[in-house]
Amino acid sequence: MMYPEKMTPHLEALTLDSRAVAAMFRYDEREEATLDYELADPLGEGRYTVAGRAVHQYPDRLLVHVTGQCAAHCRYCFRRTGTHRACGPLDKRETGLILDYLKGNGQIKEVLLSGGDPFTMGTDQWKYLLNGIRQTRSHITLRIGTRMPVSDPARFEDGRLMDLLADHGGAWIMTHINHPDELTAETRACLERLRKNGLSLANQTVLLKGVNDEVHVLAGLFTSLVGLGVKPYYLFQGDLAMGTAHFRVPLSRSLAIVNELRRHVSGLAMPVFAVDIPGGGGKVPLAAPWLGAPGKKGWPLTHPDGHTGFYPEEPEDPIAQGQGNASLISPCRHQG
Ligand code: SF4
Repeated sequence: MMYPEKMTPHLEALTLDSRAVAAMFRYDEREEATLDYELADPLGEGRYTVAGRAVHQYPDRLLVHVTGQCAAHCRYCFRRTGTHRACGPLDKRETGLILDYLKGNGQIKEVLLSGGDPFTMGTDQWKYLLNGIRQTRSHITLRIGTRMPVSDPARFEDGRLMDLLADHGGAWIMTHINHPDELTAETRACLERLRKNGLSLANQTVLLKGVNDEVHVLAGLFTSLVGLGVKPYYLFQGDLAMGTAHFRVPLSRSLAIVNELRRHVSGLAMPVFAVDIPGGGGKVPLAAPWLGAPGKKGWPLTHPDGHTGFYPEEPEDPIAQGQGNASLISPCRHQG
């Protein structure tokens, strides 16, 4: 098994009741099939790495891999084979490198703390990191990406952690919720607790075959999230991560789902449908003018910054068809 199974007791119980949750967290032997255009680093983050564990791809934003650890392993994870996987939480020396970088790059206005899952870090480590960031750049916007409200909602019952986050009011918590079955009573209570502590909530969802690739499932999820005070922010087309072909929806069908979805949810409940340019280049909304008509190489993508690339049009079952054609994916180019 290339990517070991990891689960929390909360998820173990949920997998017994929900096929969708089981599909997202239980190992499937189809993961062993990799297509030759799948990538170990599908977002091409390696080329933008700075200060040890940070990614500086956009001038005004810095992404920091605060840990490689997650409470549970999502089987479709785009960082499943990434080099950060083996890392523990940032130590003081690594934190110092990040803070020095922030100090020297005043154009950075937003820091995204990501992982792994940042909330696997202990509360003392959080305190050290958040205080360090605030002392270095007092008004910088903080975003924290996490799946913990789904995988281990009890983590947010830690009063010290909640007080610490409340002290950094104005931080955004970017949740990762893919299916209405994940909105258990515990997860709902956790989201409410975060909001009551002054945090702003937005959600990212990955479109996954056999999990949420139906309009009524997505509509139910996004409407429920809005009701819970969580703005559906992004819906992502699956990245070309190795061993995840069975989760990817053919892009033409994804676009049809999203078009239909617009008829069923309010503007507030409608996320931006987007994909990262395979191999690097940034996130591109999957709509004109950034998405072109499909050709031999796949769907042409143009990032607002000028990077270009292609996303393949895959069959419903690329593994069974033995599809694998490296020429589909060209390295991204910059036209600016
Ligand atoms: S929580 Fe995020 S980083 Fe961790 S396994 Fe899931 S998708 Fe990957």
